[in-house]
Amino acid sequence: MNNDKKSIIILGGGTAGWITANLMATNWQDKGFDITLVESPDIGIIGVGEGSTPPLKGFMDTIGVEESEWMPECNATYKVGITFRDWSTKPGFTQYVHPFLAQPDQFTVPAFFHNSFLRRKGIDLEGHPDHFFLATELIKQKLAPVTPENFPFEIAYGYHFDSGLLGKFLARTAAKKGVKYKTAKVTDALLDPQGNIDCLKTAEGETLKADLYVDCSGFRGQLIQQVLKVPFQSCAESLFNDSAVVFPTEQEGDFGPHTISTALKYGWAWKIPLTNRNGNGYVYSSGFVDDDKAETEFRQYLGLLDSDVEARRLKFKVGRVEQHWAKNCLAVGLSQGFIEPLEATALDMVQETVVRFIEAYNNGNHTDKFRSEFNDRISARFDAVRDYIVCHYRITSRTDTDYWIANGSNEKISPSLRSILMAWMAGKNITDELLDQKLDVYFPNVSWNCLLTGKGIYPAQEQLRPGNEMAHQYNVDELREFIRRCALNFRPHLEQLESLRQ
Ligand SMILES: Cc1cc2nc3c(=O)[nH]c(=O)nc-3n(C[C@H](O)[C@H](O)[C@H](O)COP(=O)(O)OP(=O)(O)OC[C@H]3O[C@@H](n4cnc5c(N)ncnc54)[C@H](O)[C@@H]3O)c2cc1C
Repeated sequence: MNNDKKSIIILGGGTAGWITANLMATNWQDKGFDITLVESPDIGIIGVGEGSTPPLKGFMDTIGVEESEWMPECNATYKVGITFRDWSTKPGFTQYVHPFLAQPDQFTVPAFFHNSFLRRKGIDLEGHPDHFFLATELIKQKLAPVTPENFPFEIAYGYHFDSGLLGKFLARTAAKKGVKYKTAKVTDALLDPQGNIDCLKTAEGETLKADLYVDCSGFRGQLIQQVLKVPFQSCAESLFNDSAVVFPTEQEGDFGPHTISTALKYGWAWKIPLTNRNGNGYVYSSGFVDDDKAETEFRQYLGLLDSDVEARRLKFKVGRVEQHWAKNCLAVGLSQGFIEPLEATALDMVQETVVRFIEAYNNGNHTDKFRSEFNDRISARFDAVRDYIVCHYRITSRTDTDYWIANGSNEKISPSLRSILMAWMAGKNITDELLDQKLDVYFPNVSWNCLLTGKGIYPAQEQLRPGNEMAHQYNVDELREFIRRCALNFRPHLEQLESLRQ
């Protein structure tokens, strides 16, 4: 695709399609590019994916949308982390928060690293991550992460939202930026002699032609997988989950800015608070439990056994395509791959793919060399997320079902993850190892440390010894007090959400 060519078809109107449309239109509005989004309402969107990471805020800033414009319309709430419950059976470590980082954490993180490192070496120091991060305190006190003017420190945050409503909102912002919209069901595509996509054929008998095709068609990967036959690399050997059952429940009232992820017998359940309801889903492995049994377990867990509220059942495949950009087609969203939703990373991958593509395109980097650099970069990000998520399962101490036993003893993990775990078990500092394995491209060192310490991957309590004065150089009570006083600057979560409606 050369810089003088200007027409783009985005196939698919799920969150991936609309994020792509907005980013491309914002960046290329003044270049007169012709962007059309095509979707088939009969096929519909997946309709889950309601948790995000901090880059979504950057996306909203880039496309010029204020929180007061989109959040109330999408029943959105704030998110500063994920609380993991019952993933570990180790005393004192059955729950922890994986926080998004805040600037004041720079004063407490050195203590976290120091204490957790020495605890791994057998010194009895406070090493649970929940004592060291501002986000965890905001969750505990149900405060919103929006910083007031008199508190000159930023805190990274993401959102929870209704994905259907967000799609509708983004469709309107894209239209304002000149994106055209067409409903049609694409049934086939013709290739030119070089193997590029020449045109799309629709069930309605039309031929649609563009210079660049963006495949946002979801799991079916209509263009990237079906037409261009780009191979799909599964990671089902290391991630067993392939199914989900989803229910809304009533919003009980007050709630903190976090997703809750609770391990159940054959997977885990998310609870995502929106202003009007909770989104709940049980992600499980059909290799270990059948769909009916999983639904019953989840209903029981939610107290919905006698309720006639209808469940939605979903199937998914985990892995990624070998090339995200192939010929004149860019795959974005579920069509390019999916690493299960445990850390809500999918939309970040959407943004990263599109932003990096725009960057490459603007630099005129359309040669095979640049395309392959782009593909390697996006694949590395996928693989780093995969390793982090596989780690959640591999280090579990649960043994209550075959599912957890198989996860905890799974030897089919990547060499990169194996080297991190070996370094951790040997009591080494894992920073260099993360760099060597390029595993910090997505989750930073501090996230890996939260994961391993939060699940209590330490020597057993009876093996710990007191340690000398140097070991006890940080006073955890003082740190807690510092965090508590930082938190005094933040408003209650519900109050902040309410203020957006005024
Ligand atoms: C159980 C589960 C939980 C998840 N939780 C999270 C989360 O918390 N956070 C997160 O970031 N992500 C999450 N995800 C991922 C998230 O749902 C997706 O990344 C996001 O919704 C984007 O999906 P999409 O737009 O790629 O696909 P879809 O929503 O499936 O959209 C596909 C679009 O393509 C159109 N289409 C398909 N084929 C054709 C055709 N032939 N002709 C015309 N149109 C066509 C459809 O009509 C539709 O508009 C989750 C996924 C699952 C399965």
